[in-house]
Amino acid sequence: MHRLKVPALSAEMSVPPAELHHLRVLRLRPGAEVRVFDGQGAEASATLLRLDEGGALLALGERLENTRETPQPVTLAVALLKGDKLSDVVRAATELGVARVQLLQTRYADVPDIGEQKLVRLRRIAAEASKQSRRALVPEVLAPMPLARLTLEGQGFLAHPGSGLRLLDKLHWSAPVTLISGPEGGFSDAEVEALTQVGFQAITLGPRILRAETAPLALLGALAASGV
Ligand code: SAM
Repeated sequence: MHRLKVPALSAEMSVPPAELHHLRVLRLRPGAEVRVFDGQGAEASATLLRLDEGGALLALGERLENTRETPQPVTLAVALLKGDKLSDVVRAATELGVARVQLLQTRYADVPDIGEQKLVRLRRIAAEASKQSRRALVPEVLAPMPLARLTLEGQGFLAHPGSGLRLLDKLHWSAPVTLISGPEGGFSDAEVEALTQVGFQAITLGPRILRAETAPLALLGALAASGV
């Protein structure tokens, strides 16, 4: 069944321009059943009331449970990477269930900052990937901030080569989770020290050194493979 994103669930909903094209291509007629989701986690069935030159109108049906979210929200805090690597990370992280991506400025980050345009693009990628993976939640992609400002809410883990702890031995689903992944140049000793001081635990991703764009997927892949 066709799913489309609307700004909010309400009794009657206009279809946003970005979604209209698909409805026209599908040649849906009044009375057709679709699904709507709001990007905040809510999903429902809806009936097409009208589709014409002027736009489309939907009537809200029954609320549906979307069971695709992890038991607690997962934040991926990832160091700024060069080129288009962050696009791939955001797309895959969305498919793997993150609730939020926090971009991080670190001492050895590949680039010092990213522009507004790139941030907008990353948010669009998250929205598309969320829809494709049938989630009702679109992960937030938060503007870069210095690693020193990262606070810990719930449990936090930092992927750092040479660490002895394993993520799945330590993680429990009773509190939100933050996973941190570093830049190609890794974290400085001072950064690792500062993060462990605030309660992040350094964990291993195995004996091989993964590229900076691969490590986030290994972190999140471990969660996905555990069935959450
Ligand atoms: N020379 C860097 C170092 O020794 O930290 C390598 C950095 S690695 C290319 C990029 C990031 O991926 C690291 O900062 C870390 O977050 C993560 N990473 C890669 N391989 C890892 C591993 N085997 N265990 C834990 N984290 C890893």
